[in-house]
Amino acid sequence: MALFVDLHCHSTASDGTLPPAEVVRLAKANGLSALALTDHDTIGGVKEAAAEALKLGIDFLPGIEISAEYPSPGTMHILGYGVDPNSPTLRGMTETLIAGRDNRNPRIVAKLNEMGVAVTMKEWEDEAKGIVLGRPQLAAILHRKGYVSSIKEAFDRYIGQGAPAYFDKERLTPKRAFELIRESGGLPVLAHPVQLRTENDAQLERVIKDLLDLGLAGIEVIHSDHDDALFAKYVSLAQKYNLIQTGGSDFHGATKKNIDLGIARGRRIPREFFDNLLAHHRKLKKAG
Ligand code: AMP
Ligand code: ZN
Ligand code: FE
Ligand code: FE
Repeated sequence: MALFVDLHCHSTASDGTLPPAEVVRLAKANGLSALALTDHDTIGGVKEAAAEALKLGIDFLPGIEISAEYPSPGTMHILGYGVDPNSPTLRGMTETLIAGRDNRNPRIVAKLNEMGVAVTMKEWEDEAKGIVLGRPQLAAILHRKGYVSSIKEAFDRYIGQGAPAYFDKERLTPKRAFELIRESGGLPVLAHPVQLRTENDAQLERVIKDLLDLGLAGIEVIHSDHDDALFAKYVSLAQKYNLIQTGGSDFHGATKKNIDLGIARGRRIPREFFDNLLAHHRKLKKAG
C-alpha cells in the first residue's frame, strides 16, 4: 500500500484545469494510494473520478468544498467528505450554491467591461468545462488576453477581495452548510484554517468551538498554505478537540502551477488520514 494520499483537489467540474479522470491518473503517477475530489459547490466530477480510481486501483472518497458566510477579510471553506451523490439534499444545496455564482458572475463581467476589459460571460462559460464558473477561470482569460501577466495579478488588480471588480456571492451560513453536509451523509471538515485569518489563537479556538457545536468532524492540518508552525498548531488543536486530521494539496492544475497533486508545501499526506476519515464515515453510515 502506497503511503500517501491527497484529500483536497479540484477538477474541471469546478475551477481545476484537469478533467476528473486525469486528476486520478496523476494521483496514480504521483504514487498516491487514495484520493478525495473536493470540487467547489459540485460533485459533478465524482462519478468519472470514482470509475477511473476503480480502474487504477486507487481508493476514492467523494467530496465537496463550499464557502460559508464569514467576516472579511477571512474566508471559511468547509469540506464535506463522503457525501452521498444521490442525496436530494446534496442536489438542492449544489443548485443553491451555483445559483449564487450565477447571480454574481455577470456583475463581475459588467464591472470589468466598465473598466475597459473586454471579456464576456460566454468566454467564461467556455473556459469552464463544467457548470461551476469560478474566478480562477476568469483570471486565466485575462491572462491569456494580456490584461495581466499572472493569475495573481488578475486577482490583485481586478477580481480579488478588495479589488474593483470583486463581488461577493451569496453563501450559506456555517450552520446551514454543516446541516446540509450532514444531511447529505458527509462529514464536515474545516478547510485551510489559516484562511479564516483569525487575529490570535484564542479567536481561532472560539471559531472551532462554535463549529464543534454545529457538528464539525475534522480539521485540515496539512495544506499548501500551512507552514510547519501552522501545521503543528492545527495538529495540537485537532488533538485537543478530538477532531479528525485531514490534509491535501488543494491542487487546481494550471491555474496554481506551483502546487502538485499529493504535495502541500513539501509535505505529503499520510495514508492514515484517509483510513481514519473512511472509518469515521463508515461509523456514521452504520449509525444511519
Ligand atoms: P470563486 O469560488 O469563484 O469565488 O473563486 C475562489 C477561488 O479563487 C479560490 O478557491 C481560490 O482558488 C481563488 N482565489 C481567490 N483569491 C485569490 C487570490 N488573491 N489569488 C489567487 N487565487 C485566488
Ligand atoms: Zn478552486
Ligand atoms: Fe478552499
Ligand atoms: Fe480547494
